[in-house]
Amino acid sequence: MAGLPYIVGNWKMNGTRAMLNEARAIDRAAARFPKVQVGVAPPATLLYRVRDAVELIGVGGQDCHAKDSGAFTGDVSAPMLKDAGADFTIVGHSERREYHGESDADVKAKAEAALSAGLAVILCVGETESQRDAGDAEAVVGAQLEGSCPKADGAPEKLSVAYEPVWAIGTGRVPSIEDVAAMHASIRGKLVELYGEGGGEVRILYGGSVKAENAAELLAVPEVGGALVGGASLTAESFLAIVGAA
Ligand code: PGA
Repeated sequence: MAGLPYIVGNWKMNGTRAMLNEARAIDRAAARFPKVQVGVAPPATLLYRVRDAVELIGVGGQDCHAKDSGAFTGDVSAPMLKDAGADFTIVGHSERREYHGESDADVKAKAEAALSAGLAVILCVGETESQRDAGDAEAVVGAQLEGSCPKADGAPEKLSVAYEPVWAIGTGRVPSIEDVAAMHASIRGKLVELYGEGGGEVRILYGGSVKAENAAELLAVPEVGGALVGGASLTAESFLAIVGAA
């Protein structure tokens, strides 16, 4: 797997203008970590301002609509994210799948719209606790990948997959290192099945309760190419501790 470790902060529905100071601090510090690729996904309302406030780090959306424009009140399209200065967008986060009823087909359409708009994509997958307990975690994630990976030409180069066990998000719980390794190997196998050789290039991130204390160990797992960080990305201090661990 090629490329620098990729550490992305997902601010979720957090942040007003006061958070721009955190973005600036992250950006300034990023210069000290040239061997790490850093991105932040602020809420859509802050995207343009964060873009203006930073120079080194990537900036992204947290979701996009599958259509470019139209009568979809409250939604934001991929070309709009691009126009606001985004480099990438997250799609298929479990909070979108759960609270907005997004199916694999929806996520796939969003990922394809994002790629067409020139955005890189971070596509999230992950099992629930009951699915893991039933021994179905790899099958569930494999099916999510089959259903939601974009078909667009050139997808592997601009695609990252984030493995985020639903039960690990915001809970302080993380899977064992062995389980992370097994799942990431399984995801790699599925990506090669879907994309051929190009599937070997897709970056696979881990997400779910990543913190400074567990980041180094998680990032050392084979096939873990970075981290998608929620809660610990909300202050520059806690986020930069993870960047430093990479
Ligand atoms: P968390 O969230 O780091 O707060 O667990 C991760 C995510 O949902 O992307």
